Amino acid sequence: MAESFETESRKLLGRLRDAMASEGAGQERLDKITTLIASSMGCEVCSIYLFRDEKTLELCATEGLNKASVHETRMKLGEGLVGRVAKRGNVINTSDAPQSPGFRFMPETGEEIYSSFVGIPIQRIGETLGVLVAQSKTAREFTADEVYALEVVAMVLAEMTELGIFVGDGAAMSARHSQPVLSRGTVGQEGVAEGNVWLHEPRVVVSNPIADDPEVEAIRLTAAVEELRIGVDQMLTMAGNDKEQREVIEAYRMFANSKGWMRRMLDSISSGLSAEAAVEKEQSTARARMNGQSDAYLRERLSDLDDLSNRLLRILTGQGSDTGAEMPENPILVARNIGPAELLDYGRKLRGIVLEGGSVGSHAAIIARALAIPLLVHVGRITNDAVNGDHIMVDGEQGIVHLRPEDAVAAAFRDKIAMQAAAQERYSSIRDQPAQAKCGTVIGLDMNAGLMADLPSLENSGAEGVGLFRTELQFLVRNKMPKRSELSALYARVLDAAQGKRVVFRTLDIGSDKVLPYMKPNDEPNPALGWRAIRVGLDKPGVMRMQLQALIRAANGRPLTVMFPFVAQFEEFRAARAEMDKTLAREERLGHILPSKIEVGAMLETPSLAFAPTKFFEEVEFLSIGGNDLKQFFFAADRENERVRRRYDTLNVSYLTFLEGIVKRCQETNTSLSFCGEDAGRPVEALCFAAIGFRQLSMRPASIGPVKSLLRRCNLDDVLAVINDARDSGEMSVRSAVMEYVRAQHQS
Ligand code: PEP
Ligand code: MG
Repeated sequence: MAESFETESRKLLGRLRDAMASEGAGQERLDKITTLIASSMGCEVCSIYLFRDEKTLELCATEGLNKASVHETRMKLGEGLVGRVAKRGNVINTSDAPQSPGFRFMPETGEEIYSSFVGIPIQRIGETLGVLVAQSKTAREFTADEVYALEVVAMVLAEMTELGIFVGDGAAMSARHSQPVLSRGTVGQEGVAEGNVWLHEPRVVVSNPIADDPEVEAIRLTAAVEELRIGVDQMLTMAGNDKEQREVIEAYRMFANSKGWMRRMLDSISSGLSAEAAVEKEQSTARARMNGQSDAYLRERLSDLDDLSNRLLRILTGQGSDTGAEMPENPILVARNIGPAELLDYGRKLRGIVLEGGSVGSHAAIIARALAIPLLVHVGRITNDAVNGDHIMVDGEQGIVHLRPEDAVAAAFRDKIAMQAAAQERYSSIRDQPAQAKCGTVIGLDMNAGLMADLPSLENSGAEGVGLFRTELQFLVRNKMPKRSELSALYARVLDAAQGKRVVFRTLDIGSDKVLPYMKPNDEPNPALGWRAIRVGLDKPGVMRMQLQALIRAANGRPLTVMFPFVAQFEEFRAARAEMDKTLAREERLGHILPSKIEVGAMLETPSLAFAPTKFFEEVEFLSIGGNDLKQFFFAADRENERVRRRYDTLNVSYLTFLEGIVKRCQETNTSLSFCGEDAGRPVEALCFAAIGFRQLSMRPASIGPVKSLLRRCNLDDVLAVINDARDSGEMSVRSAVMEYVRAQHQS
C-alpha cells in the first residue's frame, strides 16, 4: 500500500476523531463526518445510511445530495444499491450506477447525475449497522485503495455507532440496544421466565477505534498475537492425545500464525485504526463470510477465526470473560452456545437460557431440562442485541424472547406467568393424591432424572419413584471417563435420596446424539441407526461391566433395578442379562454384598422388539417404552431434525394402535410396562396412553402435576370410547376428538 495513501487515511481518521470528540448532537457529528469524507476522498457525494428498524435503512446525513431528503429517503433491506450492500454485507463499486442491477431512482435526492457509486457496509462483528456511500459524477470505478480507505472509515463509524456517538432524534438515530426486540427460537425446555440478561461472554467494548500512533499500535498488536500464540501452544500441550481437540486447536494455531491475517491487521493499523479496531475489522469480515457460507467445514473454520479474534481482543483490552460485572437478579443467560459443564456451574441460579446456536438434543439442553430451566435455542442475533442487565422475558411455550419489552407486552407476559403459578399451586395441592381417574383406575407416575440436581424433585413433584435414570448424563458432563468408585458413590447417593423409592437405572446410552467428549468419535453415516447404547455395551463390555459393578456396590444390599437401552432383539437382552449375572457372581466372589432384590428390564425403542418372540416378554422383568426413539423409527422421522420431527402426531391412529399392541402383549405375558419418553409428560398424550392400557408413566418432574390433574378429571373408559370412535371413523389422529372430550371435562 502506498505510503502517501496511508498518510492520507490517517489524516482523515484524525479528523474523524476530532469530529467524534467535538461538542454537539449526533446529527451535527454525522453531517461533519460526511463533509470530511467527501472532501478528503475528492468526491462530490458522501452519505451515511443507518437502520431505523430491522428492515429499513434511512439516509441520516449527506454531503452532495439534497439535504431535504435526510431522514426522508428510506429503503428496504435489499432494495436499491444501498439496500443490496446492507443485505449482502459486501461492497458494491460501479462506474455506472443507473445501469447497475438493483438501481432504484430516488428523485428527492437528485442523485441520478452521479455515475460512480461505491457502497460500503458499516459492520461491527458481522452485524450490519448501516451503509457508507461515496458517489461522483465522473464515470470511474473507485480504486482499491479508495475502497480500502472507506472500509477503514466504515469500521470507525461502526464503533462510533455502537458507542452512541450519533444518537439523536428519530428511530434511525436512537441509541443502540435501547429498542424492544422480539426474537424467535426453538424450544429446548418449556416454561416462562422473566429476568435480566447475563451474557456468558460479555462483548468487548472498543472505546478507541482510531490510533494516536501506528507504531505503538503495531507493537501492541504484535505482542498480543505473541501472547495468543503461546496460549494456543499451551492448549495444544494440554489437549494431550485427544485427536478431536487437537484438530480444533491446530486450526487455531494455523490462524494465529497466519501471515495474511497479521498483514491485513497491520495494514489497518497503518491506515490509522487502533489495534483493537484492526482485529475487529478482520473479525467482521470473517463473520459476514460465515453467515453466507453453506459449507459446514468452512463455517467451522471461520468460527475458529472468530473465537481467536475474541481471544485477541480480550488480550488487547484486558477485558476477560470475567469483567467484574455483577450478575443481575433473576439472571437469564444469553450466549452463542454453552457446554454442559459450564451450565452446571451456573446451576439453578439461572431463570432462563437463550442461545443463538445450540440444539434441542445438545448436552446443554439435557442439563437445562434436568434443571427445569426454560431454554430457547437458535435465537437469531440475540448476543448482538442484548446487553448485560437488559430486561428480558423468555416464553418457552411459544419459542419467543422479548428483549427490553414495552410495558404492555411485559404486562401480558406477567399475566401468563401468574396463570402458570396459579396452575402450579393447583398441582401442589394434589401432590400427595393418587393419579386416579374418574373410573377408579390408578396410574403410577414416576419421574425421569439423570443428575444429582434432579433428586430434590422426587420429594417436591409427588413422583412415586424414578422411572428412568439416564446414567449417561454423568458421563457427558465430564471431560474424562468417570472411575468405578466415583460412579458407585454417586449411585449410592441417588439411592439414599430416593429413600426406598424405586429407581430404574438405565445403563449407558451413548452414541447417536450423545457423544462422549473423551471417546473416539465414530464417523457413522447414520448415527441414530448406528453403533449406540446396548450395541456399544455388548461389543465393548468393559464399560458396561464397570457400570454394573458400580450399581451393585451402590445398592449395597438394597433392591436394584437396571434397564438396558435400545434393545432391538431378544438375543441382545439375553446377552446383557448374562453380563449382569456374571457380574453378580463376580461381585459375590469379591465379597461384596449383593442387592436384596434385582430386576432387569429393557427399553422398547425399536419397532422390532414389539414383535419379539413371546419368550422374550416372559423373560424380561419389565419393559419401558422410549417413545422419543420409538416414534422416530416408527415414522422414520429424525427426532433431531426440526423439519420433520413434529410432522407426525403421537396420537396418530397407526402409532396409537401399535402402542396398544405392545400393551396387549405385555398383558398376555404379565410383563410390567411403562412409557418413559417425553410424550408421557404431555397431558393429552398421557391420558390416551392410560386409556389404551398403560398403568405406569415416567416423565419430567414438572409434568407430573399437569398430567395428574388431567387424569383425575377424566374417565378412561370414556376416553377409550372416544379413541375407538375416531379410529373407526377413519380419522388420521385422535387428537381433536380427545381434545373435545377434555374441554368438556373442564367445563363440567
Ligand atoms: C426415549 O428414547 O424415549 C428415551 C427415553 O431415551 P432418550 O431420550 O434418552 O434417548
Ligand atoms: Mg432413547
